[in-house]
Amino acid sequence: MEKIALNVKCPYCKKSLMDPYHRIHEKPSILLDVESGGKKGKIRLCSYYGCYTHESTIDLKEGEIIHLFCPHCHKELISKNVCEECGAPMIPLALQRGGRIYLCSRVGCKKHFLSFENISEALTRLYNEYGNF
Ligand SMILES: [Zn+2]
Ligand SMILES: [Zn+2]
Ligand SMILES: [Zn+2]
Repeated sequence: MEKIALNVKCPYCKKSLMDPYHRIHEKPSILLDVESGGKKGKIRLCSYYGCYTHESTIDLKEGEIIHLFCPHCHKELISKNVCEECGAPMIPLALQRGGRIYLCSRVGCKKHFLSFENISEALTRLYNEYGNF
């Protein structure tokens, strides 16, 4: 299966969260501020949909819930959606081309999903612009 690289922005201030200067798996990483267990740092996520590779400047313990913040407007990225698997809050990231991706905030939980207002239009775009979602 081809991998889809996501291009995301802050759902609040709409600024890009991509860091083209620090790549993970050859793609620009998603750069966010992270807080967990009273510690603060930076976290970078792989932009490939479904890939969980990340680099964090603080230790993240398996099972802990992390808080992610926009590095531009400093708002916490948190939604009312909770994870179906573990009950932790889901973290929303806005896609540049419309729609959102939600990630579970619990370290080690791999639950995530995409959400679109108009799913058929989004799928058409996905097929037309494969790999450049
Ligand atoms: Zn990756
Ligand atoms: Zn922001
Ligand atoms: Zn979860």
